Amino acid sequence: MSELTIHMFPCLADNYGYLLHDADSGVTAAVDTPDAAAILAQLEAKGWRLTHVLNTHHHADHAGGNLELKRQTGCTIVGPRADAARIPGIDVPVGAGDEVVLGRHRARVFDTPGHTRGHIVYYFADAHAAFVGDTLFALGCGRLFEGTPAQMWSSLSKILAWPDDTRLYCAHEYTQSNARFALTVEPDNDALRQRAAAVARRRAANLPTVPSTLAEERATNPFLRPASRGLRATVGLPDAPDVDVFAKTRALKDAF
Ligand SMILES: [Zn+2]
Repeated sequence: MSELTIHMFPCLADNYGYLLHDADSGVTAAVDTPDAAAILAQLEAKGWRLTHVLNTHHHADHAGGNLELKRQTGCTIVGPRADAARIPGIDVPVGAGDEVVLGRHRARVFDTPGHTRGHIVYYFADAHAAFVGDTLFALGCGRLFEGTPAQMWSSLSKILAWPDDTRLYCAHEYTQSNARFALTVEPDNDALRQRAAAVARRRAANLPTVPSTLAEERATNPFLRPASRGLRATVGLPDAPDVDVFAKTRALKDAF
């Protein structure tokens, strides 16, 4: 069985586009559709035919290219059942526990409300890869446009249950600005300081900082570390429940 090929490319101002390709079956999926023209150009360069779109959520920089891609390729659009009315051209609504099959590769769907109420993520256990949209970013997490801190913490906790070696493919290159905030709330985290320096070097060379691994995020992402004594001290909640520490950290980032 061929490996799942993951082709990543920058789109719009700071999005990443993703094409997933299974050579055995010829199945090719775009994860979100930030820019139909850019995705079509990448497909042509690769010689791949688009068969699926896997949407994470309804925002225009994630689903805005759906109809054009469907018109040009006849692809099948998979997206969140909870937000089906806001996913242009949706054919297959999915939610928690559903499987999406790409050739011989399978993704499990997780509901991760918070950034939007219908956000979902796609976890390919065999490929050790997950497409997390705007739920989790390298060193950050999505803004809470349509959900509560408690919902988002519950969503992030589902991701935290995956193995350390899971590669996390998020939808934006926000890592360097996220690192600046993270250092203000965990200034004494050595792993974070080293990672921030490495991120700065990569960005200076115009290299992506995505994907990261779940192990890296566990060690350095303040939104996954509400149990950290240092973080708790900085945000002034030494004994609060994790969800309250998460909520305070998110509020501080919103005002950063
Ligand atoms: Zn979004």
